[in-house]
Amino acid sequence: MAKLGNGSRVKLRAYFLANIGRVLESDELREISGNVSEWARRVRELRDQEGYAILSHNDRGDLKPGQYLLETSKQQPAFDRNMSKETRAYVLDRNGFTCQMCGAVAGESHPTGGGRKTRLHIGHIVDKSKGGTDDYSNLKAICSLCNEGLANISPMRPDQKKLLIEIRRAKIDDQLMVLAWLIKKFPHQAKELT
Ligand SMILES: [Zn+2]
Repeated sequence: MAKLGNGSRVKLRAYFLANIGRVLESDELREISGNVSEWARRVRELRDQEGYAILSHNDRGDLKPGQYLLETSKQQPAFDRNMSKETRAYVLDRNGFTCQMCGAVAGESHPTGGGRKTRLHIGHIVDKSKGGTDDYSNLKAICSLCNEGLANISPMRPDQKKLLIEIRRAKIDDQLMVLAWLIKKFPHQAKELT
């Protein structure tokens, strides 16, 4: 039985990797796996044990139940997958369940993810290859988009000078939009300035 299961996992893995970026239906996955009763479990194993970022309707609003999507061949590091529940909970709580790179909040729709829900992973602050440890103090919450390098957000905050240059060269309409946003955000300060 175990051999049969492994065989269908191999087939499903190959099929997902050959169809990166295409939405796959449960019917075709069931058929490819050759395993009517266990195929869904094999898909979960690819995600949870092998770290493939296989998305479902739980991750993305535009996927229907029974649809699956692999967006990248990149696997999450084994470190993240094997971490204890306690470590994960501690780091997520300390970081306020917020991605420390882009600010997206767990479970909410990602600001640049096209309706994709934010799923948080645990990553290193200083990379292991640069001497970083697995200590709590070297861990941070990071969303799957930032983890895959897909988030359309610079990890560095723009400095004042750069920000002003960007705003000065923007279209008048866009400058007014920024003004309206700032007034709404800082009503008291705006009143003092006028
Ligand atoms: Zn992020």
